Amino acid sequence: MNLASTISRLFPPLTVTENKPLAGCTTFALGGPCPLLIEGSGAEELPGLIKLLNRHNMPFLVIGQGSNLIVSDAGLGKAVIRFCSDSPKIEVQENRVGVSGNTLIDDLARFTTEHGTGDLSFCSGIPGTVGGAVTGNAGALGRQIGDHLVSATLLSPSGDTRTVKCNDLEFAYRHSKLKESDEILLAATFELPTESKAVMQAERERIMQFRKEHHPDWHTTPCAGSVFRNIEPTSAVERRKAAGWFLEEAGAQTLQVGGARIYEKHANIIVADCECTAQNVYDLTERMIAAVKEKFGFTLVREVRFLGNF
Ligand SMILES: Cc1cc2nc3c(=O)[nH]c(=O)nc-3n(C[C@H](O)[C@H](O)[C@H](O)COP(=O)(O)OP(=O)(O)OC[C@H]3O[C@@H](n4cnc5c(N)ncnc54)[C@H](O)[C@@H]3O)c2cc1C
Repeated sequence: MNLASTISRLFPPLTVTENKPLAGCTTFALGGPCPLLIEGSGAEELPGLIKLLNRHNMPFLVIGQGSNLIVSDAGLGKAVIRFCSDSPKIEVQENRVGVSGNTLIDDLARFTTEHGTGDLSFCSGIPGTVGGAVTGNAGALGRQIGDHLVSATLLSPSGDTRTVKCNDLEFAYRHSKLKESDEILLAATFELPTESKAVMQAERERIMQFRKEHHPDWHTTPCAGSVFRNIEPTSAVERRKAAGWFLEEAGAQTLQVGGARIYEKHANIIVADCECTAQNVYDLTERMIAAVKEKFGFTLVREVRFLGNF
């Protein structure tokens, strides 16, 4: 019995597909195949599944909604576990909110607004899962998810679980320790600032409207949000400077490679037209980096994660 059949037999809730293109698992709708795509996993199946993959010497990667990823056209030589669910798993414990790592972050933002369990409105409309958001310390409007995390349940690459506190995750701008440790976030508990339902609802609606007007809708215009990290301030009193501003000043807005082009309303977002390849996107980022380097003398750092060979 091959590995795909063994997984299906031992974990009936999971769907396993061999040689599946990953384009359908990313908001950029790009990317070649992986040997095994495993979908439908809840936090309950993951420890056993990972131990099984290890026993079969099958390398693996856990992804969420694929909204911060660009997978190479040649694909990946590892199993991909898609830990993403549109059925939110959220529990309120007094002033805290516990959530499964595969819950969509916008579902959590909507839930906390509707139930008045604390203000997470800044996450409204951010694509992706709680796991992806904590891993990359997702944020907007000067706030970031790591500021509100109390504890997290992690699964090691060898399949062992442990609970850690916020400080253990070493949050920084768009960074957590999970980016280096390859641990998987199974669940997280947040404590959110108190705010009235009416204020949170109004703020959520304002943010959703702003995103609609200024950002592409990835369902119809494939993309992965901001491509480059914003620029470190040079002194403690300054704020981070938008990478998009430097790109505009460097005249990068008109750059295009194949089907990859820069979104007309936001110079730090690449969108994919028909016939776009992952390599087109990578090559366009190289040209954007070169344009800013020539004009300003520094090198932009990619925020999106490129996986595989480019
Ligand atoms: C239109 C658009 C707007 C966006 N706006 C914002 C924004 O305002 N602010 C912002 O910060 N980001 C934004 N993003 C980027 C993206 O939504 C976030 O980075 C998001 O948190 C990624 O979550 P994901 O589940 O899609 O992660 P993925 O893209 O699937 O994965 C990203 C990384 O996290 C890892 N990962 C995923 N799940 C887990 C887990 N459970 N445990 C451990 N590691 C995991 C993956 O291995 C990968 O390395 C935007 C993207 C788009 C397309």
